[in-house]
Formats: sequence, C-alpha cells, structure tokens
Amino acid sequence: METIRANLQRVQDRIRNACLRSGRDPASVRLIAVSKTVAPERIRQGVAAGLKVLGENYVQEALRKMDSLADLDLEWHFIGHLQTNKVKHAIARFHWIQTVDRVKLAREIDRRASSLGKRMPVLLQVRLGGEETKAGVDPEELPKLYDEVSRMDGVEVRGLMTLPPYLEDLEAVRPHFSGLRRLLQMLRDRASDPDRLTELSMGMSHDFEVAVEEGATMVRVGTALFGARPQ
Ligand SMILES: *Cc1c(COP(=O)(O)O)cnc(C)c1O
Repeated sequence: METIRANLQRVQDRIRNACLRSGRDPASVRLIAVSKTVAPERIRQGVAAGLKVLGENYVQEALRKMDSLADLDLEWHFIGHLQTNKVKHAIARFHWIQTVDRVKLAREIDRRASSLGKRMPVLLQVRLGGEETKAGVDPEELPKLYDEVSRMDGVEVRGLMTLPPYLEDLEAVRPHFSGLRRLLQMLRDRASDPDRLTELSMGMSHDFEVAVEEGATMVRVGTALFGARPQ
C-alpha cells in the first residue's frame, strides 16, 4: 500500500516537473494507470492512494477486474489490441478505446455503440516506429482513416495514441512524440470540430517525461506505479 502511494507521488512529481520545464499546466496531463496483470486488491490500494483512471490490454481480464471493483468510481481505457469479436464487451464497459487502427474495427465499434445509444470516445493508434509492433495505422494512411471514422455517429475521434519502440536513449524516442503531436495538428487543421480533437496518449514508465515535454495529454504508466510485471 505504502509502496504504491510513494510510487504515485513520485510519478506525479515527475509529471509536474516535466510540465514546468515545458511551460504546461500539470492539470492538462492525465495519468492512466496501466493495470494489466495487476490483481484487483492491488488496484484497490492504488485507487485508495489516488488513482482514478485505469488502462487494460485484455478484455476478459479487464471485465473480471471491473466486476471485482464495481463499487469504485473508475474510468477504464482499453489500450491493447482489440479484436472485432471482443468489441461488444469492450463497448459496454470501457469508457475509452485508445487503439483504433483500422476501418473495420471502427465500423464494429460504431455498430455496437450505436445500438446502445452511445458515442464511444476513441483514439487512433499510429505506428511511428515501424518494426517493433504491428499495431497502428501508418502516418500516410492516417488522414484517410480519420476521414472515414469521423463520419461515424457511434464513434468520436478525440485524438491519437502511439506505442513507440523501447529505446534506452530517451532523446531517440522524442521524435516519435513530437511526430504524433504534428500529426494531431494536421488532423485538427482538417477537422470540423478541432476543439474535440485534442488528446495525445503517449509515454510509458521509462519515457513519460519526454512525452509530457512533447505535449502528451495522457501518459500510460504501469511499472513505475505497480512494480515490475511477471514475464
Ligand atoms: C503495458 C503498456 C503500458 C505500460 O507500460 P509500463 O512500461 O509498464 O509503464 C503502456 N501502454 C501500453 C499500450 C501497454 O501495453
């Protein structure tokens, strides 16, 4: 319990300092606590320490935890690879889906959300690194994906997300984050309602400070809060 509280304090201090360095308001950065593999009891300790927003990668695992933690007022973000056959469950329980990277997935979200009378906030996941992960739309394809998804009533595109390759050298990862910021600006220039298109989800435990300096509005932090995950 004390460990999570101390970790959270440290992460919040680092976010605040990165904001001060870059002239940003610390309130403009939301901490998404990535709780994959973390047991509900530990998540509960994190919530007691001040966590409010959780990120999960696997739908079934997340649904079980949501049931165990149903008495808490939490916001859940889906941050993993979403298969279309899991969309139905994800839509019903998650508040945001951060990993929309293809029209087919967006169509399924649109269909399921519309049938529940919902408009699902989503981020488009962009692949900036290339090799490391297969998920994400290529930057050249992003405008086309955005144009198609932004016409769907059951989906609201609120911004972009990226998962760059793990790089020891933090300055080598910076161009990924500034690149995502530029892509968001490019989309805002063509958006009918740019005020709704503002989110940049980028930065993890080892690089979130650089991401904040480059404009992250959501950082997704797991290890630095909950400790190392089992392999
Ligand atoms: C696991 C995961 C994170 C958190 O990684 P840490 O290094 O533990 O902070 C963030 N984003 C995504 C998409 C993840 O899968």
